[in-house]
Amino acid sequence: MQEDFYRDTWVEVNLDAITHNVRSMKHHIGEAIDIIAVVKANAYGHGALQVAKTALDAGASLLAVAFLDEALMLRNSGIDVPILVLGATRAVDVELAIKNDITLTVFSLDWLNEAKKYMNTGVINLHVKLDTGMSRLGVRAEKELSAIVKFVEDSSHFAITGIYTHFATADESDIAYFNHQYKRFQELLNCISQQDLLVHCGNSATGLRFPDKLYNAVRLGISMYGLSPSVEVKNELPFPLEEVFSLQTKLVHVKKVPKGTKVSYGATYETTEDEWIGTLPIGYADGWLRSLKDSDVLVEGKRVPLIGRVCMDQCMVKLPYELPVGTKVTLIGKQNNEHITVDEVAKRLDTINYEVPCMITSRVPRMFLKNKSIIEVCNPLLNS
Ligand SMILES: *Cc1c(COP(=O)(O)O)cnc(C)c1O
Repeated sequence: MQEDFYRDTWVEVNLDAITHNVRSMKHHIGEAIDIIAVVKANAYGHGALQVAKTALDAGASLLAVAFLDEALMLRNSGIDVPILVLGATRAVDVELAIKNDITLTVFSLDWLNEAKKYMNTGVINLHVKLDTGMSRLGVRAEKELSAIVKFVEDSSHFAITGIYTHFATADESDIAYFNHQYKRFQELLNCISQQDLLVHCGNSATGLRFPDKLYNAVRLGISMYGLSPSVEVKNELPFPLEEVFSLQTKLVHVKKVPKGTKVSYGATYETTEDEWIGTLPIGYADGWLRSLKDSDVLVEGKRVPLIGRVCMDQCMVKLPYELPVGTKVTLIGKQNNEHITVDEVAKRLDTINYEVPCMITSRVPRMFLKNKSIIEVCNPLLNS
């Protein structure tokens, strides 16, 4: 396929690593448990359609997204497996969901009553969301859950096909609160007598750490992308994860400047000797934030420091010696034996690894690799 971008900055998405991570999880939890591949937020910044297809080929059987637009994008692109919207959908949009065979989350009796007003034909498939301690979306009490079940039984327009909850601390060493939520989930499930449901409580952390607590499906997000759900559990993973995301650019200008030369806005950096400065065509508008000003990047397999402030579209590095324009520079990923991990960047930004690929904006094209060759490039700037 074509390689349609014209800047020297891009993300590489290693689809073979997705395959590895999904297959490893499947092996770990057992064939009987379904994998729901979580591809919300453009697959955590990786590219939703390509990740979805790869995950399904590798053994996932359903997809989950955050809101209806994300589900419609996948459906419109020819994905035909069940797609679950995890977040709240406007009641007025229920018919659109039916038309596109999208499964919605029901999280309150009020929502059902509201949705009913907009239903004329067809049946909406629903997963009931239980709030067992996250206090985000979900039904908290037996009474409301029973009322929802009754409401659906009495209506020909609604069908419950699944029930689930979400843990707040599945990635923490202390499992007391996890156990509390798990117990609450079991209690609430007693209100349901329907047998053929997809029952799921686990995210990646739960799948990795408590494979016997998954019921019949797991919602696999962060670890499909090869990342540990937290730093805390990173050293006790049951199988090795392969990082999917890398961020690449190239030197576009290389120059030698004398000692005492200022670099970038604010003139905050001053060379302490004659230095080789390299300019990179990536900046904070690409999601390479100003707070990354002290980080390293990889050039010829070695770490080199960013110097001066990160600009909107560009930033500068101090090179150890003269290098040709066009030399590849890795901001996230591997070169030879060096690896700047997503976790390293997250730590510098004082955040979690989830946020890092999400923050690299859509102006950075995504290049999809399979068996080390480029199978597709996605550049929203030129393809709407
Ligand atoms: C995002 C999300 C997930 C995926 O969690 P990971 O920790 O990325 O595996 C699972 N369930 C719900 C409800 C989510 O919102």
